[in-house]
Amino acid sequence: MFTCRNQSCGTEWELSDVVIKNEGQGLLFRCPMCGARNYVERFEADDGAVVYEQLDGRPYQD
Ligand SMILES: [Zn+2]
Repeated sequence: MFTCRNQSCGTEWELSDVVIKNEGQGLLFRCPMCGARNYVERFEADDGAVVYEQLDGRPYQD
């Protein structure tokens, strides 16, 4: 579950709701509601499953 970092939005999204891509500054998804960039980090489990975790440290940018 991700939460949009745009404080006036704050919508929660499942991984299946968003498109994760790399726009040159790392992986991110754009909030489908407000378009804010939300950075994520990709992890790969031992069984090969890919997991994305939202990064809290990156400042919100519009
Ligand atoms: Zn949003």
